Amino acid sequence: MKSKFIGALIGTAVGDASGALLEGYSMDEVNSVKGGSDTWEMISGRYTDDTEMMKGVAESLIENKGFNGEHMATRFIENYDPRRGYGPGTREALRRISKGESWKETSKKLFGGKGSYGNGAAMRIAPVGLFYYDDADKLREIAYKSSHITHYHELGKEGAALQAFSIALAVSGTKKEDMLLKLKRFIKSEIYKEKVRKLEAVLDKEATKKEVNSELGNGEAAFNSVPTAIYSFLRADSFKDAVVYAVSLGGDTDTIGAMTGAISGAYYGEGGIPKRWEEKLEEGKGKKGRSYIRWLGEELYRVKVFIS
Ligand SMILES: [Mg+2]
Repeated sequence: MKSKFIGALIGTAVGDASGALLEGYSMDEVNSVKGGSDTWEMISGRYTDDTEMMKGVAESLIENKGFNGEHMATRFIENYDPRRGYGPGTREALRRISKGESWKETSKKLFGGKGSYGNGAAMRIAPVGLFYYDDADKLREIAYKSSHITHYHELGKEGAALQAFSIALAVSGTKKEDMLLKLKRFIKSEIYKEKVRKLEAVLDKEATKKEVNSELGNGEAAFNSVPTAIYSFLRADSFKDAVVYAVSLGGDTDTIGAMTGAISGAYYGEGGIPKRWEEKLEEGKGKKGRSYIRWLGEELYRVKVFIS
């Protein structure tokens, strides 16, 4: 179980770094750069905002032995590095909170008062999926609350909850039909229900990448990327195949890679992640890279066992 906790966090970083240099490339462009999946290798170990924010979620859950919104928002602000490619909404939310606004109020004011439904809450959610893997109601509650710091829109929060629950199922060793069945029961929003139905259909017919992108999406909206990450995990038989496939779809490659890496790392454990990829991961600014992320996984597991 400890290896699965570490696997989900390292998996986030490895998936993020795998897609980082290809963010915004179309599927055809990615494939012309990569030249097919057999020879595909992780180019750089540099991760982006996805991993940086995931660390903030983990740190806060560990220090508080559970959720504390103000503390988590403060961690996001302390860890913020402008060179990691943050989205404009998250940047603005963190700026406002750092000026003294309440984390409960800020995200509501963004995007014309509707809030963001981007995948920025889902991309960082792995620690929530792990910490509450054995309690679906609590997992949903904390996924929503932790998303709220930057993503107010219901579809942004539901996407994060769906991603967290997929990680929880993966930690418990659930895959294939069983996972789809449980996801369907968990989802509340009609948009995501429809996406999971499409996911099932493309899984059944072994769809082309083009069909996957048109049915599930490869963009920055949570509903156009979380189902794609779940699909990338479900169709593959290894961590490597899942992440390579996710990135090969193009679009929001770092985040779809990070989310696929989180679910796959939770399922296969740290041992399932190619060693050379893990070793390539940067040690990061202020030594908060590979070894630190591994340590966060261990600590999260230790605290989980302690409070259970
Ligand atoms: Mg990113």
